[in-house]
Amino acid sequence: MHELSLARDLMGAIERKLDRGKVRVVRVSVSVGSAAGIVPESLRFAFRVVCEGTRADGAELSVTTIAARSRCADCGIIFEFDALIGRCPGCGRLGGELLSGDEMILRTIAVADV
Ligand SMILES: [Zn+2]
Repeated sequence: MHELSLARDLMGAIERKLDRGKVRVVRVSVSVGSAAGIVPESLRFAFRVVCEGTRADGAELSVTTIAARSRCADCGIIFEFDALIGRCPGCGRLGGELLSGDEMILRTIAVADV
């Protein structure tokens, strides 16, 4: 389950952004590319576990899936898809060169005073 290591990375990114401010985290939102193979429910669960005992304990995680983009290796068409692997709309070939969509992006952090 790679969601657990992703949740740890996310927590690290949140800590770096907040630095030493005396706040607690109430809500976090991330976007994940469809080709990252992240299961939102697993990520939310892992995030809850990683946050236990930290200032993000009990924070809500909102996960939005965004379309991935590939370039077809055969005909060169660039296409978007919202699955793990895309199919070229031009020639029907699966896969191709992944241009984006295997990443997780930290969008917003909502905080409250301690
Ligand atoms: Zn193609």
